[in-house]
Amino acid sequence: MSDYVKMWEDLGMDLETHDQLCQVLPTAFGDVYLSQENRPEGMGFWDFVVSEIHGIRPSELIEAQKNGQKVFGTFCVYVPDEVVIAANGIVTGLCGGSQFWVPGGEKVLPKNTCPLIKASVGARLDRTCPFFRIADMYVGETTCDGKKKAYEILAEDVPVHVMDMPQMKRAEDYDKWAHEIELFAGVVEEQTGNKVTPEKLAEAIKIINNKRKALKRVYDARKADKLPISGKDALLMMQIAFFDDPVRCAEMCNKLADELDQRIADGVSVFPEGTKRILLTGTPLAIPNWKLHHIIETSGAAVVCEEMCTGTRYFENLVDETQTTLEGQYKALADRYMKNNCACFTPNEGRIDDIIRLAKEYKADGVIDVNLKFCSIYDTEGFFVERALKEAGIPVLGIETDYTDSDAEQLKTRIEAFIEMLG
Ligand code: SF4
Ligand code: SF4
Repeated sequence: MSDYVKMWEDLGMDLETHDQLCQVLPTAFGDVYLSQENRPEGMGFWDFVVSEIHGIRPSELIEAQKNGQKVFGTFCVYVPDEVVIAANGIVTGLCGGSQFWVPGGEKVLPKNTCPLIKASVGARLDRTCPFFRIADMYVGETTCDGKKKAYEILAEDVPVHVMDMPQMKRAEDYDKWAHEIELFAGVVEEQTGNKVTPEKLAEAIKIINNKRKALKRVYDARKADKLPISGKDALLMMQIAFFDDPVRCAEMCNKLADELDQRIADGVSVFPEGTKRILLTGTPLAIPNWKLHHIIETSGAAVVCEEMCTGTRYFENLVDETQTTLEGQYKALADRYMKNNCACFTPNEGRIDDIIRLAKEYKADGVIDVNLKFCSIYDTEGFFVERALKEAGIPVLGIETDYTDSDAEQLKTRIEAFIEMLG
């Protein structure tokens, strides 16, 4: 990635510290990913993206900026990419998934903040991630308290627009979210200098729906008895979907899905027969957080599905494509996004139904409910999740972890015992 030093310099990055990150990432990726056997050939694209993670996509974004496009950095699956794309803007996910950035976040945030927030703030303030430097504007949301306050801190360093998320799902909350999306469109128009028209928005809705359909095809392949792809590889595809161009993302995912369908037809599996199938539910796993998948898949089981924002919540449910007015389209967007079941909503029975449904669809032998340390909303909701799974006769293990490796051994012991208990 050394070819990109000039670009990083121009972005005002801390090159010395960034070098340390560049040194550890290839080894971590090699250990976790390249050690796998019989991977689908299509994963070569994502391997390449990771090998150039701070180079290739950032340079595309900078090129687009030179051509007058604006880049919006987002932190949550409720922010509608469609609106940005309709105004010829670009969206990039910004959630931090590495311990490397956590100490930077702890300089300004309480230690008992979830690692995702600390890493995201650290990546910006320590100037060690090009994506955090490139974004012209950050788009936040009032989901959890930690994020809300973190956006205030970030706003001292970068323009931030915060969308006011409803916390319930009554009819008026759907209207409120449609109105927030309309306000967001105004902000995007101002930033980009481009109008959001019904025609442009209709096109953008199709682009993102196509991306959702392609991601779903890969996930559907994981329902097969013989698993054609590991959970780790599916997770990587999902994590990079937040950063990539949506049209290319759909194209590459469809290619991968074609290969997986062929593998299923040929009876090719990446795991030995009888491997236990695990559904993961809980807080998101931002790149490069591969810790749990790696532990599970080196302990005799396979991850078959993630009921997470880095999982089914990102692609399930399409936006209605038949609306022809902005009013109708904002409402259609609100209807789709409000179907997401984040623990920030109360009550949130929809998520419990989703987990039980997905456990059946993906033929999971057991569920691991994972919580990022200090995320109180998912932690608390775990009470209902675990009770419902027990009532449904589905074995469940609740765990809490962070981005460090200090608990890896202990987690492995617990996860191995859980897998063994599955029979
Ligand atoms: S867990 Fe909730 S707050 Fe976090 S990205 Fe998902 S929807 Fe947004
Ligand atoms: S994991 Fe929990 S605490 Fe962390 S950002 Fe998401 S909702 Fe907030």
